[in-house]
Amino acid sequence: MSPGRVVDRPKGVPPRPPSPEETPRFCPSCGGSLSLRNLKRGEPARLVCQACGRVHYLDPKVAACVVPERGGRVLLLRRAINPGKGRWVMPGGFIDRGELPAEAARREAAEEVGLDVEVGPLIGVFGTRKSPIIIVYSTLRVDGEAAPLDETLGVRWFAPHEIPWDELAFDSTVAALVGLARQRGWPHPGGDR
Ligand SMILES: [Zn+2]
Repeated sequence: MSPGRVVDRPKGVPPRPPSPEETPRFCPSCGGSLSLRNLKRGEPARLVCQACGRVHYLDPKVAACVVPERGGRVLLLRRAINPGKGRWVMPGGFIDRGELPAEAARREAAEEVGLDVEVGPLIGVFGTRKSPIIIVYSTLRVDGEAAPLDETLGVRWFAPHEIPWDELAFDSTVAALVGLARQRGWPHPGGDR
């Protein structure tokens, strides 16, 4: 693909222009200045290096999460940091490069709430246009006592009917817990119970 050539493209998702705070100014390869250029019709403008011509794509962030389950309850934590400070979410965080999603989910459960989990079947993959894509796992086994550790104000085990649907941190948190509730036959928003 040659930078600067505009190519027709079948219509797809509306492009979202990069916001200033997530837009690098200099080329990570050569240090040249980056500028936004329209390369393909229907796609967001891309960052192109004015010195070496390399195109830098702003990929979505991907996080891995796990919903610990024990004795018919799920473990949620209250976030200590923004975004979503003070609201409830399942343990999770960004996947490091070279790390597998299930490994990241297990690591985050240990770091944030001190639980040793055996990651189980996938609950689902969820995302919105603004937030990271989250890959959410169930658990096969949960060991240890939950405690508020990294970036966590508090922890609590919730019975299905106690899940604080109106106090969850993100739309993707709601979507993931609705996904789990559907799989388990629990009451949930939009459900018939
Ligand atoms: Zn460059």
